[in-house]
Amino acid sequence: MNRLDALRGTTPQKPHDARAIAALAANPGCSRRALMDGAGIDKDAAARHLGFPAPFGQSPFAITRGNAFEALVKADGCAELLRMLRDLLGLPIAEVAYHDVENVGAHLRHTHTRTLIDRAVRQEDAGTVYDHPLFTLDIAGHTAYLEPDVVAFQLGGRFHIVEIKSFAVIDGQADPAAVAAAARQAAVYVLALRGLLAELGHDPLRVSHEVVLVCPENFANRPVATLVDVRRELAVLRRQLTRMTTLDRLLDGLPDDLTFDLLPGEDGLPTRPVAELADAVRGAAARYAPDCLSTCDLCFFCRDEARQEGASDLLGRHVRDELGGVASVGEVLGLADGTRDAAAGQEEIARLLRNAERLRRECLT
Ligand code: SF4
Repeated sequence: MNRLDALRGTTPQKPHDARAIAALAANPGCSRRALMDGAGIDKDAAARHLGFPAPFGQSPFAITRGNAFEALVKADGCAELLRMLRDLLGLPIAEVAYHDVENVGAHLRHTHTRTLIDRAVRQEDAGTVYDHPLFTLDIAGHTAYLEPDVVAFQLGGRFHIVEIKSFAVIDGQADPAAVAAAARQAAVYVLALRGLLAELGHDPLRVSHEVVLVCPENFANRPVATLVDVRRELAVLRRQLTRMTTLDRLLDGLPDDLTFDLLPGEDGLPTRPVAELADAVRGAAARYAPDCLSTCDLCFFCRDEARQEGASDLLGRHVRDELGGVASVGEVLGLADGTRDAAAGQEEIARLLRNAERLRRECLT
């Protein structure tokens, strides 16, 4: 049994989906998450058992709305989508071909997707849209199956991932957090399709780093398409996936007997004593940031831990980076009011904090 299997113990492995893989790029500095994801731990089940369930998952209303919007965009052989893609990517009207890969049996979908993508590259003669293709991505030695909404193949030989989301674009603006999450998810598909092209012996860079984001516009359900550049998300994702395949350095720092095993009973529910599991999870270093609240199942557990430690992480990534090296709020306050001496390397931040504290006092008096 390798070390990652030992970390998971008797708990069944949780397969990764695109949303989970995308979230890896949200907090690349967190060892706890890298280890738990690398081992395929069900973080949602762990968080529930620890007494810190995270309210993730869309409401039934949001899911219904999302499905209805996707059906509208894809109705009549993606007619509405093709209209937008013609404008955005210059797909030629006469040569558009539409393939719904979902019509193929589930076990054949990946093979069928490979065949269609290979043919598109070799023939290079059609603007083509693929609905429900199935890609794979290797995550720390395990195969994840991924299903982007649509892939568009542009005349001229470029593939574009199309993501259909139901959050609204109002007066040309959308919720930045929702757009960032959609970009991270689309980047996962870009990476998977690039991997497939490389396997087929084609140039992976035929997959564009510009993805097409389709959202409802203003308060009507009329779809609007925008190009989003996901190069930054791709770079972070690549780094994080590499980190997960080379977890040895992180594993070396852990006690030999550390395991996140939930010890599921016959009914599949965890039976491991909660305090023991909590100690095990704390054994892997976290890097909490408020963004975790929208991206990681363990967010409430890690936030509680950060609060108990008075960690400066709670103030957000920007403040944490500005404070570089000062780990707790107590330490920050001590340096600011001079009751604490600066350790080696903290001289500059201590000077800035003392200045800030002096200015604050001047303003208050
Ligand atoms: S919630 Fe915890 S485990 Fe998850 S990314 Fe944040 S710090 Fe890491």
